[in-house]
Order: sequence, then C-alpha cells, then structure tokens
Amino acid sequence: MTLKLYDTLSKNVREFKSIEKGKVKLYHCGPTVYWTQHIGNLRGMFCADLAVRTFRYLDYEITHVRNYTDVGHLTSDGDEGEDKMEKGVRREGLSPEKIAKKYIDIFEQDTKELNLLEPTVKPRVTQHISDIIEMVQTLVEKEYAYTTDLAVYFDVSKAKDYTKLSGQILEENIQGAGRSDVSDSQKKHHSDFALWFFKAGTHQNALQFWPSPFISPLVENGNGFPGWHIECSAMSKKYLGNTLDVHMGGIEHIPVHHTNEIAQSESANGMKFSNYWLHNEHLLADNKKMAKSEGTTYSLQEIKEKGFNPLSLRYLFLTAHYKSKLNFTWKSLEANQTTLNKLYEFIKSSEGNNGKVIEKYNNNFKKALENNLDTPKTLAITWEMIKSKDCKTEDKKATLLEFDKVFGLNLDKVKNEEIEIPDDIKELIKQREEARKNKDWKKADELRDEIKKRGLAVEDKSVE
Ligand code: AMP
Ligand code: ZN
Repeated sequence: MTLKLYDTLSKNVREFKSIEKGKVKLYHCGPTVYWTQHIGNLRGMFCADLAVRTFRYLDYEITHVRNYTDVGHLTSDGDEGEDKMEKGVRREGLSPEKIAKKYIDIFEQDTKELNLLEPTVKPRVTQHISDIIEMVQTLVEKEYAYTTDLAVYFDVSKAKDYTKLSGQILEENIQGAGRSDVSDSQKKHHSDFALWFFKAGTHQNALQFWPSPFISPLVENGNGFPGWHIECSAMSKKYLGNTLDVHMGGIEHIPVHHTNEIAQSESANGMKFSNYWLHNEHLLADNKKMAKSEGTTYSLQEIKEKGFNPLSLRYLFLTAHYKSKLNFTWKSLEANQTTLNKLYEFIKSSEGNNGKVIEKYNNNFKKALENNLDTPKTLAITWEMIKSKDCKTEDKKATLLEFDKVFGLNLDKVKNEEIEIPDDIKELIKQREEARKNKDWKKADELRDEIKKRGLAVEDKSVE
C-alpha cells in the first residue's frame, strides 16, 4: 500500500507522491499569539503532528514549518476589525512583544505536554518583514497588486481561478478575505484583500509598523504592517521553496486564508503552491465549534487542574478521524483517561524488552494510517492485538511501542518514570492490599472496582 491523503483542492483521496524522493516539505499555519490557545486550537496542532509522525513512520525525512503570527491577523480572518495582537495589548496592558512572548511560552509548554514534535522551523512574522515586503513588491511589479491610500491590495480578478480551493463563486457575495468594513473607495473589487496596511485610517494608531517601499500620501516611509495571508506565503517560500508537498490548517481557512495564500504564492512565483491540502475538522463543545466567542473554550491548564493527564486529551484526539468533528465533554475525557491508563498498565505489566514487532498487526496499523490517517482504526487494531490470545505479551509490547511513534502517548516512558498515582487512589490500593492479606476477597474486589472507576487497573498480570 501507499499513503493516500484527502486533498481539499482536488476534492479527492490521492496517492501521495513527494516532490523529492523520500522527503516531505510541510507547512502548517500556526497560532496567533495574542491569547492562550484553547484545546480546539490544540486539536489542529495535534492533527499536523499526526501527519508529521506518520510521514516519519513511513520513513520520510520531513521539514516541518509552523509559524507564529505575531502581527497582522485582524479579529476577523478578513480585513476587518483590529489587530489581534493589539487586542491582547489592550486587554493586558503589555507591549505587543511581551504579549507575543507570554503566549508563545504558554503555547510551547502546551505543545510539550501534548507531546507534539518540535517543528523544524518556527518562524515569527515580525522577523520576516523584509521577506514579506519583497513578495508584495513582486506582486505589485507583476501587476497582481495595486496601491490605494490605505493599503496595497491583491487584485483577485487577476489571479488564475481564484476560488479553486473553496469552489465559491467570486461574483456572489463570497466569504472572501477582502470583504471589509474599512471603507476604501479606491478598492477595485470587494474581494480584493490587503497585502500591506498603511498606518492610516482605522489603523493610524497601529502599535506595530515598519517602513516599506509602498507609497501612500497619508503616511511617511510607507509605514504599515503586513496582511495576515501574505505572511504564510512569504515564510513558506523562504523555508520550503515555491512548491510545498503538503499544506495544513483548520477547515475554516479554506475560503479565506488558504484561498488567498494560493492566489499570492502562485501569482508571485508562477508555479503551483502546494501539491496536497489537508484540512482538519474542529473540536466542538455543546456540538458547536469550540470558540472564544461562544464562551465554550477550555485550556490545557484547566484540564491539568482537573487532575487529567494532558495525554488523555491526545488519546481523545486519536479516537476521531482528523476530518471528523469531535465533541468535547469532560465525561469523554475521563473515559479516555481510563483507557490510556489501561495502555500504561499493559506496558507496566509486560515484562521483557526483547519482543519482536508482530508483522500482522504492524501491517494493519500501517494500512490504516496510509488510508488518510485513520487513527480510530489504528486504536481498534491496538486493542485487538492487546486482547489477542495468540501472541506473546513481550511481542505485543514491542509492537505497541512501535505504534507509539505515531500515537505519541509516551508509552516508552512508562517503565522508567512511574505514573503519578493520586493520593486517594494510593490509599485505596493500600486498603485493598490489606483486605487481600486478610483474605477478605469481597472487599478486595469492591476496592478494585472503585480503583478501576477512578481510572487505574490493578490486575497484576494482564489487562482484560
Ligand atoms: P488562531 O490563533 O485564531 O489563528 O487559530 C489557530 C488555529 O486554531 C487555526 O488554524 C484554527 O483552524 C484552529 N482552531 C480554532 N478553533 C478550533 C476548533 N474549535 N477546533 C479545531 N481547530 C480550531
Ligand atoms: Zn497560513
């Protein structure tokens, strides 16, 4: 079998072929660092990590770029509203730099705790302003862009098949990035979107701005800041070249952000931008997208405060296909923590480190991954293997540790680092040992059930 991925652009599951044999260049739109990323945002980061780990599992060498947006992302994904970074500044009374640092630190801590692999490069927009300006200049020179008093716009009528990713009809009132409240009578088409905002009009008090070669009578030195979309086009070009193998992001990026990235990159570079487009579905709360505006977000910190292992969230993410919606509830997190603990218990109770990877299960596991990253199937295969009667425990363990290169559940650390057992469970275990000593089997069984209910299995030899 070969890897097959669902590509949003061709609307098909396609066989994966990399540009360069054995190598993958992957770009993933990273967070806007103005606030704590909620667990919905983190699901997107996990999905990219899953793709990265799968490529590695399949022996590809991967260059993974995930950016930090620390300027230019307005409160709508289009050209409306204030800059998200400035929103953070107003909320907390810190400078944009301090806001960026604070939320990058929190995000990096969260990614570690979710066991996300470090990207190869983590470029920050504010450190790539000259690359962005260069790309905007190219677009202006090639007449894909024009300048008004307020901004430099991308002219969507010039782009080849502008809406090919979303399939929207341009003439209709599409959900395009350029639709805007910022009235600019010099703008040619309502869908044209900003590549560079001058520090003028609604943005005259912008805190983050840089000089540019673009000219507006309203500002000196072309002062302004980049639009959000051009950031990704410029940074992906810098680190991965004109054509990527894979571009990833959340599904809401299809009609606006990614549509605009394609238009900019393909117009500036004169070649295809990305060979595969992978979009992950959202995490829901109360069956609606988990979002700050709905007041339904949770952070990883809150999950830890409630006594959960952050990796139980990772296990929960694995239970759903990346292209399926997933409804978050505390109850489901609890159930997944219990299941994850059973995996830990299995590893703990399996002696010996010289087992062999079981071909049959490893092949099935690989096939499921190659089928557009079917993680629910990989988990089903895992449990089928654990419960099977015809394989040695030692071999099951070796196979499971192999799977964990993709699962990322830290199963290899179980033996060395004891899992932290909460005090109340420790007390129950003590009482159970006492009951066993006294041959009070009824009590011992009751206590075992109670311990199990709280997420730990105490069977000594095997896990059912
Ligand atoms: P932002 O910080 O607003 O740029 O968002 C960061 C990323 O989080 C985006 O790529 C979104 O696709 C993603 N995102 C936001 N809400 C959710 C959600 N409920 N489920 C999954 N991904 C989300
Ligand atoms: Zn992007």
